[in-house]
This record gives sequence, C-alpha cells and structure tokens, in this order.
Amino acid sequence: MSVAGSRLAGCPESPVRAQAKGADGVSDGHDSAVGEQAAGSRKNKDKATVNRSGRAGSAGSSERATAGRGEAVATGVQSAAAESGATGADGPKSTKGTKSAKAPGKGPGRPESHLAMVRRARRINRELAEVYPYAHPELDFRNPFELLVATVLSAQTTDLRVNQTTPALFAAYPTPEDMAAAVPEDLEEIIRPTGFFRAKARSLLGLSAVLRDDFGGEVPGRLADLVKLPGVGRKTANVVLGNAFGVPGLTVDTHFGRLVRRWKWTEQEDPEKVEAEIAAIFPKSEWTMLSHRVIFHGRRVCHARKPACGACPIAPLCPSYGEGETDPEKAQKLLKYEMGGKPGQRLNPPPDFPGSPAPPLGAD
Ligand code: SF4
Repeated sequence: MSVAGSRLAGCPESPVRAQAKGADGVSDGHDSAVGEQAAGSRKNKDKATVNRSGRAGSAGSSERATAGRGEAVATGVQSAAAESGATGADGPKSTKGTKSAKAPGKGPGRPESHLAMVRRARRINRELAEVYPYAHPELDFRNPFELLVATVLSAQTTDLRVNQTTPALFAAYPTPEDMAAAVPEDLEEIIRPTGFFRAKARSLLGLSAVLRDDFGGEVPGRLADLVKLPGVGRKTANVVLGNAFGVPGLTVDTHFGRLVRRWKWTEQEDPEKVEAEIAAIFPKSEWTMLSHRVIFHGRRVCHARKPACGACPIAPLCPSYGEGETDPEKAQKLLKYEMGGKPGQRLNPPPDFPGSPAPPLGAD
C-alpha cells in the first residue's frame, strides 16, 4: 500500500527524519515557520500558480518510467512506506527498525546520501500524484493573456482574490490592445481588491502595450521574451509557459520553496538556485505537475505556520515530520480547501476537482 493510500489513517514517525537531520546537522528549527514567512514575504512578489496543460503527461508514462527506475534501486523509503501502509490503520507507529532507518551504512544520525534523497523525492512526487490527481493551476484563465495578467495580479494576494477580480477585468479589457488603451484610474479601480493596485496597473498597462507593439497582440511562448515584459519575472514566465504553452517549468513560489526545504531536497533559499537543484532531481516532463502537487500540498496540508503533520499523507517520507501538529484530530482541522471540506480557489475549477467552486467577489 502506498503512503498516500494509508493517509489520514495515522502518521507514523518519519523514518527518514533522523537521517536527513543528520545529513546537514540541522535541527527541526532549520526552516522555522517564522523564517519561512519572512522569506516568503520577501520573495512572493509575483505569487504564481501552476499548470494544467502539462497534467496528462506528468502522471503518465514518463512518471512511471521515472518511478520504475526509482523502484529498481530504492529500498529504504519504499519499505518504510509499505510498512506505513500496512500499519496505518492501527494509528501512529514508530518506523524504527524499518529498512529505511537501517539502510546499509546509514544508521540514525548518519547523512542521507544524495541518491537516497533523490529516490525519496521521487517517491514523494508519486505519492502526491495519488493524493492530488486533480492538481491544477489555481488561477482562472481562458487564454495565455488572461493567465499572464492573473499571475501578475497574484503577487502578494491569494489566487482566490485574483479569481474574484478578473471576471470584471477581462470583461472590460479582453485583449492586450484593450488593456493597453485603458484609462489608468479605471483599471486601478477594477484591480483594487488584489492590493498594490497602482503598481500592478502600471505593469498591466506596460506589458499590454509591449504585447500590442512588439508581439502582434500575442503572448510570446519564450522565456527570454516573457521576462522582458514589465512586471514579469522568471516565476511568472514559468507559470505562463507551463500552463499556457505546455513548456515544462518549475514554479518556485513561497510554498514550493518552503516544502522542498522541509523535505531536504535542497537547502537553497534563492528561488533560481532552488529551481536549478530541483530540476536536477526530476525529469523535465515532471516539472510542471510536480509544481502543481507541491503547491497544492503546501496550501492544503504543509502550511507555513502550522503544518498538519498528523494528517499528512507523506509523513513517513518527511524529515520534518513533527514541525507541525501531530495529533491526528487536531491536524485534521488544519486542512484547507477541498481537503478540509471547503471551497477551492477557482470560481471555475476543472471538472475533476473534488471540492466546490469558490464564491464570487463579496460573497465570501
Ligand atoms: S505536513 Fe509538511 S512538515 Fe509535516 S509531515 Fe507533512 S510534509 Fe512534513
């Protein structure tokens, strides 16, 4: 049974925790919620969402191929996961003594090898694919221009607030030409609910004018062109490429950075360095869907301040288990969106989304 299959049945002590801690000699407080919050605040200038267009392939053949390679060599983590599944119904159990904890030459406190970390990382990705088979971008959009605009607006606010704002925006300015010709004050008024509306209006007017003048009113499908647009950084560009053009990309937003550091996939804080290190762990075909899954998990379970460890489906694979609430009942109450039985962020979610749509502006 997979770890995901046993989720919520109980959250055993992480078998990789001691190893990973030993790997860097770092205590649980290494990436504390407070530190992460501060970092997230600094780095979340253009908070991104993720891709749907890459979904079909990511959990498909390439994932299975990757999984196959991992399974051919993996021992410890998988054994631990299997054990977790077998015992999950009985509630939390120590995984002490599992193969993972006793991997050859890697006793408690010993560093986890890079190879073992890669196997564990790929295992987590597969587990998350089971938990969130419906993972998708959480910004509503109908074309690349709408996604670009929505992603720029998502800086320093929630995707929900953006989704509640963009219907009126795109009704008034459906194309780059329309938006470039907008009266700034009118544009500002519409996007006011997303915050920082004057700066965002300047970006939208600027990028719309460049799209109109230099790209024939179309959003370019190249990173080099996208990052030259006003208000568009590498993260926003990757979101657009991955979602609207099917070009694999990693979205290193505040959730992604926090989780991959908690999982000890990297210790980097700089988003570009994080992107480079995570890109080396996974095949390109996985990048977009991996981003969706990690961000989904960060928003629903592994929160910055209070991770719901006691209700976390990948707890047996997480070296930071225990950083948050471990009591299953209390942890269950921390779950958000569809995991907590609440509406999602999109007003128009995909058909396979198991939760309910978000309410329109003013109704929440
Ligand atoms: S909630 Fe986060 S920190 Fe806690 S076990 Fe899950 S992934 Fe690890």
